[in-house]
Amino acid sequence: PVSIAVRNVSKVFARDGQETVALDGVDLDIREGEFLAVVGPSGCGKSTLMRLIGGLDMPTRGEVTIGGAAITAPVTDLGIVFQKPVLLEWRTVLENVMFQIDMRGEKRRDHLDSARQLLAAVGLADFENRYPHELSGGMQQRASIARALIHEPPLLLMDEPFGALDALTREQMRLDLEELWLSTRKTVIFITHSIDEAVLLADRVVVMTPRPGRVDRILDIPLERPRG
Ligand code: ADP
Ligand code: ADP
Repeated sequence: PVSIAVRNVSKVFARDGQETVALDGVDLDIREGEFLAVVGPSGCGKSTLMRLIGGLDMPTRGEVTIGGAAITAPVTDLGIVFQKPVLLEWRTVLENVMFQIDMRGEKRRDHLDSARQLLAAVGLADFENRYPHELSGGMQQRASIARALIHEPPLLLMDEPFGALDALTREQMRLDLEELWLSTRKTVIFITHSIDEAVLLADRVVVMTPRPGRVDRILDIPLERPRG
């Protein structure tokens, strides 16, 4: 796992001669191995903050560091899950999970066992040879989560990963994610609209102010479940 520091970060978007201040002086420390949830109203800059932490975009002011070093490019050892499944339609579930392995030029067979373990963990053990269009939305999202984890990234970013799912699937995914997190112990940043989900999953919950986003409050969640 990795530690992250967000120092006085602002992000201003300029489009069509109009400026949007998405983040305004955000300070935040994310400890190694911590599960941090970020909640706040729509448009307060949660996704923007996540993109800056992943190095997918750069701050207008301030600095984001990871393990002490400033982020200047997309973070390589990163797992990322968005609200909508991100799968390649022409690849089977297993081949989608192997995507990062292929990208790194590693051998699929060295990762076959862990890919199958991950697929089992997300309830897709019997679906490895199916194509995305053969699966329900919830199953596609589970495949996306497995795909984000196959290269064992020390940092996992999730932007409303359960947002498009029905309540029951959401609940099951929450339990699955908790189990996965307990067994792998990565640094996780989890964006959600659901304060319930945040409190149930996270060690700390960051509450952001309405636009422009600032850290409003940080809630430490008392440790109630066995960890490690
Ligand atoms: P949240 O994830 O909390 O809903 P976002 O980070 O998506 O919020 O957006 C924060 C603000 O920044 C919003 O006003 C949004 O319209 C604006 N914004 C986000 N990305 C861009 C972009 N690429 N160009 C212009 N404005 C953007
Ligand atoms: P959704 O999120 O779309 O409501 P879920 O992911 O909760 O769907 O799927 C519910 C269950 O329905 C799955 O666990 C699976 O057993 C079954 N199912 C859904 N789609 C398919 C499919 N294409 N092939 C086989 N079983 C499916």
